[in-house]
Parts: sequence; structure tokens; C-alpha cells
Amino acid sequence: MKFIYSYYVLVVELVFVVSAFSQDFDFFYLVQQWPGSYCDTEKSCCYPSTGKPESDFGIHGLWPNYKDGSYPSNCDTNNPLNPSQISGLLRKMQKEWPTLGCPSSDGMSFWSHEWVKHGTCSALDQHSYFQTTLDLKNQANLLQSLTSAGIKPNGESYSLESIKDAIKEGVGYTPFVECNTDTSGNSQLYQIYLCVDTSGSNLVECPVFPHGKCGSEIEFPTF
Ligand code: 5GP
Ligand code: 5GP
Repeated sequence: MKFIYSYYVLVVELVFVVSAFSQDFDFFYLVQQWPGSYCDTEKSCCYPSTGKPESDFGIHGLWPNYKDGSYPSNCDTNNPLNPSQISGLLRKMQKEWPTLGCPSSDGMSFWSHEWVKHGTCSALDQHSYFQTTLDLKNQANLLQSLTSAGIKPNGESYSLESIKDAIKEGVGYTPFVECNTDTSGNSQLYQIYLCVDTSGSNLVECPVFPHGKCGSEIEFPTF
């Protein structure tokens, strides 16, 4: 009887461990934002306390998603970001994942928000979640892909197709382009979505794209 009981406990523990560490989602969106398009809107922006970010795409987040377009969020609100877990990544985070939200901050509140909303559903620990995201940005150099095709952040308009083609050519995968509008009402390149497998190591073609619509010609503002 005692033997059967301990066997039962073992099985229950095993099921718990497996379910706690296996990921319940189908892919990630890696979302990068163009700072010029975050800042030239009605809402405007605030530069981080560490200074104006460089003129490059910045990370918005790495978001677990389901193939049907829905997504899990806030999977463990009892697991807030512990800044000491990412102390070794801070310099890179400030460069590659700068916050543009107001009021100005060093970024920790933005990163904490992304961790709790999306990171806690990723099956990665805090350090791996941020390290993985930083590594992915390296694999997906958007600005380089665009400028190689003559598409520059100079306030001019480019066709949506030429932007998608340039990224497909440079990065190897088809992006989703999200637009927003500047204070004059022009449609502009705001965020670029690429898809990543559940391990967080490889870009993949997106199983499903978010909804939203850009004009056929969109502006690429300066920053
Ligand atoms: P919005 O409503 O501005 O498009 O999105 C607000 C927030 O909801 C995003 O910043 C993100 O945290 C989350 N979100 C919106 N769309 C998606 C999506 O398709 N997948 C995931 N995983 N999160 C999303
Ligand atoms: P999400 O839309 O990802 O759910 O939420 C983003 C939250 O982070 C919002 O509360 C937004 O104000 C804040 N935030 C701070 N910095 C940034 C930034 O640089 N970009 C975006 N999209 N949100 C930021």
C-alpha cells in the first residue's frame, strides 16, 4: 500500500513538472518598433532617462501566440521581474529595447510589463527570456534590410510591398507590417512582426498574421 501511494505521488509530481515546464502556445511574435513613429503621434513619447535611443528599430516584445490568432497573457502574476536577474543584460537592453513611454524611465517598468504579460507565458526563465529576445533581434536586422533596398527613414513614402519584400530578402521571412498615424494623419511604418518557433531560437514563417491595415504607400519617418 505504501509503495502504491509513493508511486502515485511520483506520477502526480511528474505530471505537475511536465505541465509547468512545457509551453502552451504555438509560436512567438518578435515585435520591433520604429521610434520615429512612436514619437511623432498625438500621444508623443518620452526619451529614456539614459538618453535618446539610436536611430534604429527597438524591441517591443516577444509574445507567445496561438495559431488561431489568440494569445495567452499574464500566465503568472506572482512572478514579477526581479531586476537582479537581468543585471548583466542592462547595457544591451538599454540599447536594443529602449522605452519611449512617458514619464521617462530607465526601461525597467516597460521590461517588467512585457515580462509579466508575455514572458510568464513563454516557458523561459527571466534571464533566458530577455537574452533570447536580444539574440533574435540580431538575427533580424530590419534597418539593414530596408536600407539595402534603398528604403531609408527620411520621411518619404514607400510602397508597403517594397517594404515587405526588402525584409523578406534581408531577413529571409515574411513580416507583418503594422502602421499608425502621425499628427497630420499620414499612415506610417510603426511595428514589424516576425515569427519565431517556441524554443525562441529560430525565425519561422508566420502561421497567422495579426489584423490591421496600412495604406499601400506608407511613410518612414526620421528619428
Ligand atoms: P493593441 O491593442 O495596441 O494592438 O495591442 C496592445 C497590446 O496587446 C500589445 O502591446 C500586446 O501586448 C498585446 N497584443 C496585441 N495583439 C497581439 C497579438 O496578436 N498577439 C499577442 N501575443 N499579443 C498581442
Ligand atoms: P503592451 O501594449 O505591450 O501591452 O503595453 C505596453 C506598455 O508599455 C504600455 O503601458 C506602454 O505605455 C508602455 N511602454 C513603455 N515604453 C514603451 C515603448 O517604448 N513602446 C511601447 N509600445 N510601449 C511602451
